[in-house]
Amino acid sequence: MVLSIYTITFNGLSLVIYPLQIFYTPELPLDFINSLKHIIEDRLPFSVKMTTKLYVFTTCLIPEETCLHGKLVLDAIRNQKTIPLALFVTEMSLKVYNGCSPWSMTHLLDAALVSFDQIGKEQMLRFNEVLHQLGHLIGLNHTNDNNCLMKCTSDIEFLSQRAFELCPNCTRLLNRIIAD
Ligand SMILES: [Zn+2]
Ligand SMILES: [Zn+2]
Repeated sequence: MVLSIYTITFNGLSLVIYPLQIFYTPELPLDFINSLKHIIEDRLPFSVKMTTKLYVFTTCLIPEETCLHGKLVLDAIRNQKTIPLALFVTEMSLKVYNGCSPWSMTHLLDAALVSFDQIGKEQMLRFNEVLHQLGHLIGLNHTNDNNCLMKCTSDIEFLSQRAFELCPNCTRLLNRIIAD
């Protein structure tokens, strides 16, 4: 798949940056979205091109539950995004069927969804889970390294201790992805 990416020159080096569109539901304050944007751009090769407030359609709700259907939200994001890569964040609960954790799902080179409902209010936990999913978005898999952002967890206890950095293996893989 061809991804529309662009390069910037930084200290004489040419770097590939992936443009990203962030969709967020209205209960999330703009200053949170701005902090999220900065941490994403500081730590992974993304540039946030736009942030879009999204009123979720009732068609994405699971009947009789105040819960979003992950696959239907993914379809809605795919239809609405105006650049190839998108991230959706919400405080609403999200039911996922094939995610790597109960609160997130990601479709490679397409869209990542993260619900903060079970993660809670702690910002660093929220940021950590978003960065993990964005790692998947551009092609990183899980690692066994306990000191790596790409360690899989469905446990809040572990999430609060998971590293913000990529291990040397994931860093090498990411550099290979970027170079391709
Ligand atoms: Zn994962
Ligand atoms: Zn790793």
